[in-house]
Amino acid sequence: MLAPEVQAALAAIVGQDRVLTAAEDRQLYASDETPRACAPEAVVFPQSHEEVAAIVRLANRHRLPLTPRAAGSGNVGGALPTPGSVVVSFECMDRVLEFNPDDRLIVVEPGMVTETVDRLALTAGLMYAPDPGSGAYCRIGGNLAMNAAGPRCVKYGATREHVLGLRAVLGDGREIRTGARTTKYATGYDLTRLLVGSEGTLALITEATLRLIPAPERVANLRVCYASNAAACAAVARVMRQPVLPSALEFMDRRSIEAIRAHGGAEGLPAGTQAVLMVAADGAYDDVPRQVEALARALEGEGLLEIQSGFTPEEMARLWTARKSLSHAVKSIAPLKINEDVVVPVSRLGALVEAIDRLGEAHRVPLVAFGHAGNGNLHVNLMVHADDVDEMARARACRQALIDTVLRLGGTLSGEHGIGSEKRAFLAQALDADTLALMRELKRLFDPLGILNPGKKLPD
Ligand SMILES: Cc1cc2nc3c(=O)[nH]c(=O)nc-3n(C[C@H](O)[C@H](O)[C@H](O)COP(=O)(O)OP(=O)(O)OC[C@H]3O[C@@H](n4cnc5c(N)ncnc54)[C@H](O)[C@@H]3O)c2cc1C
Repeated sequence: MLAPEVQAALAAIVGQDRVLTAAEDRQLYASDETPRACAPEAVVFPQSHEEVAAIVRLANRHRLPLTPRAAGSGNVGGALPTPGSVVVSFECMDRVLEFNPDDRLIVVEPGMVTETVDRLALTAGLMYAPDPGSGAYCRIGGNLAMNAAGPRCVKYGATREHVLGLRAVLGDGREIRTGARTTKYATGYDLTRLLVGSEGTLALITEATLRLIPAPERVANLRVCYASNAAACAAVARVMRQPVLPSALEFMDRRSIEAIRAHGGAEGLPAGTQAVLMVAADGAYDDVPRQVEALARALEGEGLLEIQSGFTPEEMARLWTARKSLSHAVKSIAPLKINEDVVVPVSRLGALVEAIDRLGEAHRVPLVAFGHAGNGNLHVNLMVHADDVDEMARARACRQALIDTVLRLGGTLSGEHGIGSEKRAFLAQALDADTLALMRELKRLFDPLGILNPGKKLPD
């Protein structure tokens, strides 16, 4: 229970109606997309930078842990409250502070929904490139904290490449401003890059200056079917070696296709399809057909069954049908999905996919792999039943073996979902001791009392 004087002090900062303490309200903020829950002591909804700073100062006085939260769509427990913590929800900080097409930038509060930024940019012929699959509801603060990415990032880069500057509150309540309003910046240390991906453990972001780029005049899609995982992975390597960079290069493995078939979503896929690539091209109107031709040439090779291209919205929607049905299809394999988000160099993708097949069989755990192949980033889903003790033990062993394999292949733990509470046990394996020690020192410098999102990112 929150001490009455702390509750009153929070209410004095944001107003009584923006502090929730009722059990049913706290329960709504008890989890993100991870299958764990811990109700916070209270949920507070600041509406300005100044209110956030006042909350952090109050938390310092009372040694109150704070759990920042945007939309709660994260899948590593980043926004999962730690026991005794207060959730700082950024939902009420969702204003556009400045939209400046001449300087190709937009300044927003962290509660702004991601797709809203892109839609607004489009009104001036511009684009906010990061496009996470959750873009219709996740928020910029969560994207910044996780360095979110999406299909377009193979061409345009992840969130980090689209941030010019930040305003934030450190763990002791001080305000910092990082970066600039310009696309070139060589002044001081690059704290913007440090804060992006810091998962709310170093500072609470209260304002972001985001970089906008010209929107493409046209987009086209290709759906490419292969007779094996290996054939599709070889095609990914060929595409990434030639000069036309696709604006999406997504992969679905054999198990994904099996799940889609079982779920009735494989209509139109040729017989014998074991792996599919979804590829996109974008750019100037007349240039897109040329790009599609070049990509199709690179996609041709051993094991190719079919290439279909789509230029109109209807054609593109039809080609994406199988991919769109994947989430539901996967859920029908088993109720619990343990989602890994591993990345390897693109040249090792084939080796990773082969290893995933082997690990699934060896540990008798269904593994479904799909994702952003152009970045070497696969979502490997271990499909399990939480109440099956034996299966859960096999899944744990399988997960460890997967991480070992990824690190051996020169890869890393997460491409876009982050570490949160769920993956920090593996961090010491992925980073050397001195690097990890420096990260702990940074944490102490930014957040001396350790009140910002404790239990996340770094191992205890
Ligand atoms: C269906 C689905 C599809 C998805 N697809 C993708 C995808 O394609 N690409 C991808 O990258 N991710 C994807 N995700 C994961 C998730 O949507 C992203 O991690 C997203 O960036 C989280 O945003 P959020 O607003 O939900 O943040 P939350 O989950 O609320 O929080 C995420 C982290 O940000 C911190 N945080 C929030 N606000 C602030 C702030 N103002 N200051 C400091 N820290 C803050 C939180 O403490 C937490 O650590 C997907 C998730 C789902 C459910």
